[in-house]
Amino acid sequence: MKTTVLGYPRIGARRELKFATEDYWAGRADADALAKTGAELRAAVWNELRDAGVDAIPSNTFSYYDQVLDTSVLVDAVPDRYRHLTGFDRYFAMARGVQDVPPLEMTKWFDTNYHYIVPELGPGTRFRLAEGAAAKPLAEYREAKALGIETRPVLVGPLTYLLLAKPPADAPDGFRPLDLLDGLIDVYAEVLERLAGSGAAWVQFDEPALVADRTGEEIDALARAYARLGRLSSRPRLMVAAYYGTIGADALRTLARSRVEAVALDFAAGPGNVDVLASVGGLPRKTLVAGVVDGRNVWRADRRRAKAVCASVLGLVDRLVVSTSCPLLHVPLDLDAETSLDPGVRERLAFARQKVAEVVALGRALSEDAPPAGEAPAPAAGKVDASVRERLDSLGDARRGDRSARFAAQREALGLPDLATTTIGSFPQTPEIRRVRADRRAGRITEEEYERAMKDEIARVIALQEELGLDVLVHGEPERNDMVQYFAEQLDGYAATEHGWVQSYGTRYVRPPILHSDVARPRPMTVKWATYAQSLTSRPVKGMLTGPVTMLAWSFVRDDQPLAETARQVALALRDEIADLEAAGIRIIQVDEPALREMLPLRDADRPAYLEWAVGAFRLATSGVADTTQIHTHMCYSEFGEIIGAIGELDADVTSVEAARSHMELVSDLRAAGYENGIGPGVWDIHSPRVPSAEEMERNLRRALRAVEPSRLWVNPDCGLKTRAYPETEASLRNLVEAARRVRADV
Ligand code: GLN
Ligand code: ZN
Repeated sequence: MKTTVLGYPRIGARRELKFATEDYWAGRADADALAKTGAELRAAVWNELRDAGVDAIPSNTFSYYDQVLDTSVLVDAVPDRYRHLTGFDRYFAMARGVQDVPPLEMTKWFDTNYHYIVPELGPGTRFRLAEGAAAKPLAEYREAKALGIETRPVLVGPLTYLLLAKPPADAPDGFRPLDLLDGLIDVYAEVLERLAGSGAAWVQFDEPALVADRTGEEIDALARAYARLGRLSSRPRLMVAAYYGTIGADALRTLARSRVEAVALDFAAGPGNVDVLASVGGLPRKTLVAGVVDGRNVWRADRRRAKAVCASVLGLVDRLVVSTSCPLLHVPLDLDAETSLDPGVRERLAFARQKVAEVVALGRALSEDAPPAGEAPAPAAGKVDASVRERLDSLGDARRGDRSARFAAQREALGLPDLATTTIGSFPQTPEIRRVRADRRAGRITEEEYERAMKDEIARVIALQEELGLDVLVHGEPERNDMVQYFAEQLDGYAATEHGWVQSYGTRYVRPPILHSDVARPRPMTVKWATYAQSLTSRPVKGMLTGPVTMLAWSFVRDDQPLAETARQVALALRDEIADLEAAGIRIIQVDEPALREMLPLRDADRPAYLEWAVGAFRLATSGVADTTQIHTHMCYSEFGEIIGAIGELDADVTSVEAARSHMELVSDLRAAGYENGIGPGVWDIHSPRVPSAEEMERNLRRALRAVEPSRLWVNPDCGLKTRAYPETEASLRNLVEAARRVRADV
């Protein structure tokens, strides 16, 4: 029995990649220094995997920013606006832009919280194999070989690469990146021939696109791509990896008939793979790379279950290789680095290093020559909180009263003008605020000193908003490091890590908390700050919470109970928080759900069930309040696609969304989808320091008014202001209030 992993964390045990990259960006280090750190990190991973006893070691899983961007560079899909630059400067300009040259778009990678750089492919794109270091899979293969380590280069598969690409804005209608398949395959063929020439025995093509719904035409493209690559006379053996879910039967059938020598399937996110495999008659004469160790979550493998999966597919394939379900990009590196985890939680966990050991141990246990080892006990389940479960059972389906009654009650109780102005929650997080939080964490200041500093900041932000003339104020969120972690730290059932960094994009890494047991709220989480802010002003202050779906999306979640159940537990804790806020005199409460769309399942068939529990959890959290209390929600995007109907189902009284860049189209889209409540289309794109003029915002508001009544239109920025600085924040908010005032005068 052989073993492998599909990919490995690349950021280093001490986030070396981040610091080296940021040093390069800041001009503190040169390209050679960055390249040296890269080489050290790659060598460390290869050596580690070899020493752990992994039989087949991947390469080209390293990236200075993103593997999809690497692919664009590899095939020379470089838009002209970057061609005056070379090397790292060109590469990072594509990722982040430079003065006057905007970057490529960035978006979420499948249903993960990793972001990739979107290839920009038009009819004029001519693929060509890059040379030197830009031909990264070749360079890395040779680099490993020089260290005495034989590797399997990993490439983004041609179908997935093209399906993730977008045409440039000026491309003719009807052009699709998939039209470029043949030219791309020519370059991939050249890569394979060169790899074979260097001695590579295997290549891995990542095709996660195969676990989403695919058209017949896309399946034909898959067949054509791998038929051509398979026919090459000189090539490494081909492995196609379809992870993050269950592969489509048509896709698997196509691969079964092709000349690829191995297929990797994900038995963690795609338990349906066993049936699909059986339904297509298995993979006779091929190798199945069985992803039985979950690469996406942090739980220790259940060995007995993993073995059972392997046993159930053994008769359907020629050979079996034990593997992780997907690349280990989404889990932290090493559990041993954690020193303060509760032992009961810790023994249930495995990070990347531990997962590699699990793969190796499973491989040994499944080999005929393995000694009959004692069975490791199955991992324990999370702690049960009986009172939480009883309360949830008794609550059932929760919904608020009639919309128009609520609308009238809130108008009367809040006395807000038409086109009411507000912000999304956070105000700029200045270095001083960050320092105070860090000082508190490190024990350099007392709790009293910390509280004083936070209150001073809140008072400053309230005074500023009054001076600017905003209608609904916020406390500014100075106490929050992160909108999920802040709550996770205060809820039972969540644990935080010290070093559990995973790459979100580029040099931005996050430490998702671990949701391990039943969730309960031992004490109020935000009431102190909200009521302090409210005590300073007669205008309404919005309470600010993170919604149940987002609390799951940006955490590692339990795999011992359905997500829907975990979401209800989080929702119940939020419901209690909302009740406390309301009782303390907070009349408007915002529950942010920026991750609602990101959690949407990859397959259409799975979406209704998801939306049902997601909407149900939001309603459970928000439906305990009086008609006079106004519930807001916020989402940071404007392309709602399949979730547009669900926005209305959430039944928030007011929904704020991103819209500044899409000219308010969203307002009519939402209306057309049946949304009838208040809406705050962002009129200021906060993702850049640019200050929009009052005229520009006024135009946007007038456009929005074509689709919504003035009493239901809210005036606000696109998102929170925590990444902005004060000068542009004050100037922009001043213009925003002015724009609202002008339009209000006319309606
Ligand atoms: N209330 C949060 C803030 O303003 C919302 C952040 C978000 O939508 N991502 O920062
Ligand atoms: Zn936002």
